[in-house]
Amino acid sequence: MKDNKYADIVVNLPVEGPFTYSIPEHLERYVNIGSCVEVSFGDKKATGYVTGLSSKTSVKNIKPVIRALDESPLIGPKMLELTKWISDYYYSSWGEAISAAVPAVLKKGMNVKSRRKKKGPEDEEIEFIDGSDTHLSPNPEQRQALDSIKRCMDDGIHRVFLLHGVTGSGKTEVYLQSIARALEQGHSSIVLVPEISLTPQTVARFRARFGDKIAVLHSRLLGSRRATEWKRIASGEAQIVVGARSAIFAPVKNLGLVVVDEEHETSYKQEDVPRYNAREVAIKRAALSRAVVVLGSATPSLESFYAARNGRYELVELPERIDSRVLPEVQIIDMREELTKVKKVPIFSQPLKLWIEKDIAEGKQVILFLNRRGFSTFISCRKCGYVLACKHCNVSLTYHFHKRKLVCHHCNYKMDPPNVCPQCNSSYVKYWGIGTEKVESEVHRLFPRAVISRMDTDSTEKRGTHEKVLSRFKDHKIDILVGTQMIAKGLDFPKVTLVGVISADTALNLPDFRSGERTFNLLTQVAGRAGRGDLGGKVIIQTYTPAHYSIQAAKNHDYRSFYEKEISFRKELNLPPFCHMVRLMFRGRKEEKVLKVSQALRERLLKGDGPKKVEVVGPAPAPVSRMKGMYRWNLFLKADKIENITSLLKKVLGNNRRVAGIIVTVDVDP
Ligand code: ADP
Ligand code: ZN
Ligand code: ZN
Repeated sequence: MKDNKYADIVVNLPVEGPFTYSIPEHLERYVNIGSCVEVSFGDKKATGYVTGLSSKTSVKNIKPVIRALDESPLIGPKMLELTKWISDYYYSSWGEAISAAVPAVLKKGMNVKSRRKKKGPEDEEIEFIDGSDTHLSPNPEQRQALDSIKRCMDDGIHRVFLLHGVTGSGKTEVYLQSIARALEQGHSSIVLVPEISLTPQTVARFRARFGDKIAVLHSRLLGSRRATEWKRIASGEAQIVVGARSAIFAPVKNLGLVVVDEEHETSYKQEDVPRYNAREVAIKRAALSRAVVVLGSATPSLESFYAARNGRYELVELPERIDSRVLPEVQIIDMREELTKVKKVPIFSQPLKLWIEKDIAEGKQVILFLNRRGFSTFISCRKCGYVLACKHCNVSLTYHFHKRKLVCHHCNYKMDPPNVCPQCNSSYVKYWGIGTEKVESEVHRLFPRAVISRMDTDSTEKRGTHEKVLSRFKDHKIDILVGTQMIAKGLDFPKVTLVGVISADTALNLPDFRSGERTFNLLTQVAGRAGRGDLGGKVIIQTYTPAHYSIQAAKNHDYRSFYEKEISFRKELNLPPFCHMVRLMFRGRKEEKVLKVSQALRERLLKGDGPKKVEVVGPAPAPVSRMKGMYRWNLFLKADKIENITSLLKKVLGNNRRVAGIIVTVDVDP
């Protein structure tokens, strides 16, 4: 008989805990460490997780656990430890961190029956005849990488490898063979991929090699399917998990290996509480299980490459494409010069037009990339200068041709395009700026005989469209594919010989210290879509800032020169990886109040930080200074160690998510 009458419970709310509850006799069987339960908290009910048990307590007025939500504990001791670390590092409550680690469908209570459902598009796996079911014989560089990785796995040493290799250099083959070694040892593996590259193509490759041992977790999975996959993993039936961000919490047994593909991707950062980065969580989780981590990228994050340079990680490199296939030649077009040749701002430069014409005439395929949706991205009155902006956000509206609407890309506010200027009634309303819709229509006009398709979040709203377009492109039923970053990554189509970047400047102009890094990554990724077959490849980048080091380094496929330049800026300005940064965002409907609260907090932080370990910068308006009707101001905190910042915040802000009616969010390593 158990004599644990009391449970320490953390709840999925921004409060610290754990709190003590009593365990009614009839629930004793179900309330264990790691169990998910329902408790009353204040005057409401809350989902809680048991973090400890005891036979006595000194706490008075104890409330009982209301009910158990699952028959057996949802989380094991290691997951409790991991989520505790997340809550400390990313400044959330422990209960919130656990909640993020467990799929919602499993927290809904016992006897959840998986309802039968129609076969959805997420179940259909489009066959790509591209996965090979046997190991390829590694080339010397792959062998060297595999030797180092396997040695650590064999010795049970936790180590982080940074696998730096250009696109097509054989990184995935290294992952596959490392996973096979883990399997031989009876160990499980988790492979994280950015959601965007979780295409049927990627999944098919893993499936071809490992068949039913694979479980796939992505955000489009319906609850019931997610629950089934979760159970297959927990039971040990599936020993390899492939998935997006939250797959790092998969309940595998005997974790031996974690792979983080495209480790630099921003989609590994969760935007809600807890605002964790799955890459860092992966490293922590592996450390707890003494597992090996492989971070792979053609364009490693500055943080990871810096760590590799300092010996914290081990750098392994695959410097060349398989079969020494050359990287595509990249040509930069200075659009300022193009502008002098023609009267109107051109979408396509002469060289890009000629190359498209030539390649489709030769029966090859073309990808055109622009990181902006819609038709016109800026609408203004030529008479009075009025700009059509969102009612709720401080951004201009984008004209969407197919919807015949002006749309806000931040809050989705829509309005009909006005015939006259709303301010002066003149009819000189002009549409400027280009989005993917306009690129598509312009390609139609210039190349009427080509089959053209567009892929962005507008064109793929319907489930399954994404896969269908890719499948048609693969079968060469499409000549020219126009798209946003949706088509920038992961695609491997040998007949694509030309990639055109309509504008390299969209990401560069963002007011963010990572904009140079983003631009280099994006251009390198997009360029990597060209010349993957025997037909060779060419990339054309149009830009108004051709001399920028990010663009020059991308042209030369030269990560090192980009890294050296960027890291020296970061050092000079004391930015990550030379410090840790935390962003406090203040939001509210009255701007004066937002400003007042942020300034007051600044003063309290400065006063509270006796030893002056934390630098406080701001407050300053956020890049989008009003969104969804809320004014937004930022305060940045910088320090050598994250604990210096979080302990100061604990002292000054505590668990508060609101100060005098103003919403305050804390984002660690933003
Ligand atoms: P990356 O993940 O770096 O983009 P991949 O692992 O996808 O590179 O490899 C690119 C292509 O080369 C794939 O078609 C893959 O099947 C092939 N490949 C990888 N390694 C080998 C090898 N050792 N021998 C022959 N082909 C290989
Ligand atoms: Zn006007
Ligand atoms: Zn808006």
